Amino acid sequence: LIPLRIEQLEALRAIVGASGIRTDDVAGTLDSGINESNLDAGVVLFPETLEHVQSIVRYCNSQSISIVPHGGRTGISGGAESSIGQVVVQTTRMCGILSFDEDAGTAVVDAGITLEQLQTAVHSHGLSVGIDLAARGTATLGGMVSTNAGGTEAFRHGVMRHRVLGLEAVLPDGAVFDDLKQVAKANERFDIKPLLIGAEGTLGIVTKVALNLVPLASGRITALASCPTVADALRLFRRCRLSPGAELLCVEIMWPDYARTTAEELGKPSLLEFALEPDSLFVILDVASGSGDSGREHFEQILARAFDAQEITNAVVAKNERERNDFWLVRDESFLCDRRYPHGFWYDISVPHRCLDEYSRQLFRAIHDIHPDFKIFLFGHLGDGNLHLTISAGRPMSEFEETVEQAVYGGLRAMGGSFSAEHGIGTHKRAALVRHGCAAKLEIMRAIKQMFDPNNIMNPAKVL
Ligand SMILES: Cc1cc2nc3c(=O)[nH]c(=O)nc-3n(C[C@H](O)[C@H](O)[C@H](O)COP(=O)(O)OP(=O)(O)OC[C@H]3O[C@@H](n4cnc5c(N)ncnc54)[C@H](O)[C@@H]3O)c2cc1C
Repeated sequence: LIPLRIEQLEALRAIVGASGIRTDDVAGTLDSGINESNLDAGVVLFPETLEHVQSIVRYCNSQSISIVPHGGRTGISGGAESSIGQVVVQTTRMCGILSFDEDAGTAVVDAGITLEQLQTAVHSHGLSVGIDLAARGTATLGGMVSTNAGGTEAFRHGVMRHRVLGLEAVLPDGAVFDDLKQVAKANERFDIKPLLIGAEGTLGIVTKVALNLVPLASGRITALASCPTVADALRLFRRCRLSPGAELLCVEIMWPDYARTTAEELGKPSLLEFALEPDSLFVILDVASGSGDSGREHFEQILARAFDAQEITNAVVAKNERERNDFWLVRDESFLCDRRYPHGFWYDISVPHRCLDEYSRQLFRAIHDIHPDFKIFLFGHLGDGNLHLTISAGRPMSEFEETVEQAVYGGLRAMGGSFSAEHGIGTHKRAALVRHGCAAKLEIMRAIKQMFDPNNIMNPAKVL
């Protein structure tokens, strides 16, 4: 690990100006995000234009200095980790909305705009980004493209790659990949931009994104329901999704240990008192309210029918925004379980609906066979089968890492699921990619990386 030389720092300073480079106590003054080693490079550049990014990349390529692109640093797979001798290129000063076509429902934005900034801008026009996640206040569109983010609305609008119409990116040799289409149909062969979506910064720096927006649902009603089993939760999902006149917006599931620990840590255990059975699963449902009270009444009728069909044992419908936020806090504050039970292993997997009930039962059995004291904190996006889980004993347990991983990942591929659902590979899942991915695909990925980035300067040692 060799730090950058003074003249290299001066050359980079000449590109972005004195206010566009940080080398002093970077980790002490900037928020390193989820991963403490994100800022270990000690050099952070803040380009403001495409030309800045191009010049940085060209210079770094000529000097064999590797680059770690950063957006909001909310990624949780280690894709933004950096080390001495590298430079971080943070896009957050490139944060404009460059064009917005209200009629077509499209927008072109700089990569550094946060999801929340874009949401605020388009919501007032009755449109939505079509992707939502709890880190919305900090996560950037460039980061979301680069991780192919998913979130709570993926069962309706797909993941990030389904929202992207076009991209602009700076490739590792400094060339601009200019494919900023704003139309759904553009068959100019070959389609290269899907390679950059989800590349976690290994193939280039995304600088602009053209997005296909979706209609914004008018108002939301939120309910928290208790369900006896996963199969019941899935039947409830199907009922809400297919009921005429109801528009299901989000559907999230929490297993009892996850929900109860989070509610306790929030100081709000009473939120879950409506569920009388201690082993109930919890499902949060958001539906569009429409105008007037009819949406709420209709939703309550659907829940009553779900109760009659024994899909739910009880449900509460949020009476106001405060209650709604409280329900969602229990779902979103996933780090509270880690705080109470640190040192756990976390996973982000996808399971096809038809296997979800059996998979989760088998998982609990397998983990408790490994060690009866292990806690399983399980929750996720029910609509698309994406589960997040932490397995923890509240103490270091590295000797169990391989066995636990096998219990979680084993069988996923055969059932058509995935060991890596929405958070990406980064550094944390590189070994798992080799163990649980497809060997032939991995070879193609290595060849693509070599073709894009023969000097291996763009976020090296990530993904591959
Ligand atoms: C509370 C919380 C909730 C979350 N919920 C979800 C969720 O529901 N669904 C989900 O998918 N994710 C979720 N995440 C993870 C995270 O928010 C997403 O991965 C997000 O897309 C990261 O965006 P970012 O701007 O913070 O990227 P960063 O963390 O800065 O970077 C992530 C990766 O993208 C690369 N990168 C960043 N910007 C660029 C760029 N312009 N060009 C090229 N590469 C770039 C980085 O090198 C890194 O590999 C959550 C995170 C938190 C903290």
